Amino acid sequence: MNTKYNYSLVKHNTFGIDVAADIFFEYSSVEELTDFIAEMKHSPEKNKPMLHIGEGSNLLFLNDFKGVILHSQIKNIQRISERKNVIVLRVGSGLKWDDFVAYCTLNGFCGIENLSGIPGEVGASAVQNIGAYGVEASDTILRVELVDLQTGKKRLISKKDCQYGYRDSIFKNEFKGRYAVTYVHYKLSKKFTPNLSYKALKSMVDVKYERRQLSPTDIRKEVIHLRDQKLPDPNILGNAGSFFMNPVVEKQLFDQIQKDYAQVPFYEIDEEHVKIPAAWLIEQCGWKGKNVGPAGVYDKQPLVLVNCGGAVGQDIAKLAESICQSVHAKFGIDLHPEVNFIAS
Ligand SMILES: Cc1cc2nc3c(=O)[nH]c(=O)nc-3n(C[C@H](O)[C@H](O)[C@H](O)COP(=O)(O)OP(=O)(O)OC[C@H]3O[C@@H](n4cnc5c(N)ncnc54)[C@H](O)[C@@H]3O)c2cc1C
Repeated sequence: MNTKYNYSLVKHNTFGIDVAADIFFEYSSVEELTDFIAEMKHSPEKNKPMLHIGEGSNLLFLNDFKGVILHSQIKNIQRISERKNVIVLRVGSGLKWDDFVAYCTLNGFCGIENLSGIPGEVGASAVQNIGAYGVEASDTILRVELVDLQTGKKRLISKKDCQYGYRDSIFKNEFKGRYAVTYVHYKLSKKFTPNLSYKALKSMVDVKYERRQLSPTDIRKEVIHLRDQKLPDPNILGNAGSFFMNPVVEKQLFDQIQKDYAQVPFYEIDEEHVKIPAAWLIEQCGWKGKNVGPAGVYDKQPLVLVNCGGAVGQDIAKLAESICQSVHAKFGIDLHPEVNFIAS
């Protein structure tokens, strides 16, 4: 258990924004968290807002946080059931996501190897429904353990009740800010079937491997290699990964855009809707590699906004707003941030 006051969050967000939290509380067990919530009820700080964070790899702090920041240090992995081809693991929310992926690939527990190299912690995987290379966390999530931040009551909810969608869940909507995720249960396969639905991954693997010899560790290695080529390391250049979600537009609007830009990339969602990569839209508006003061658009991947040094949250937010305006003016499409803006 660890409580700090007027505490800098610079090491707790991958944009490297230097803001402070009134109170920062880290817990290593569910009991430590529930005791803290009970104490808070009788403290002069009881009306302050609470925010649970992970590694801060999807957060943009706009100013100092005038409240309580919570962070899990529960990091254990428990095998709760095992059959011939399936294993269910109960994983602490404070474990680094990629350490969990490494543990699974090493032990031959399959299903999340395509999600190798994603920053952040296990708790946030269930909030964000992280995804990459044709796989989403919700493909393997079975249940989520929660603690109510107001009452301290524990709750277990099934995957169905998490209402998962593209980078979306009940925790970003109806349950926003209400619960701490303390454990996530994943159902993994002990039989390996590579998911090569993502074209760039398939091409890479086709060139390098005999398909029959592929292992989850090979996929992990190739995914990390692909990611390293296009994403900046937050330890070197502050960022939060993809800043915007890929917009889904009506087919009618897409057809109009395609008339002017025959090369527009797209994925068909259904007969009436098409998804267009936000990176392409941003690049067409001339933003790739541009800086506005200390905030910039990454030159290898325009979906990533970066802190070029000394940026405050407002610098990044203003750049994001300018990008949204130009994409709207040129294509009539509204971009929506994937990153969570935090203001208090
Ligand atoms: C270089 C880079 C690459 C990335 N690539 C990808 C990618 O390929 N795919 C992808 O999906 N994302 C990607 N991301 C985004 C990010 O890694 C994910 O969103 C990740 O899940 C965030 O985890 P975190 O622990 O840092 O959560 P934070 O950013 O700290 O928090 C994210 C949200 O989850 C909530 N939260 C976190 N932990 C808990 C908890 N225990 N209980 C309750 N609420 C909680 C927070 O309140 C917040 O709303 C990338 C980010 C970076 C910097």
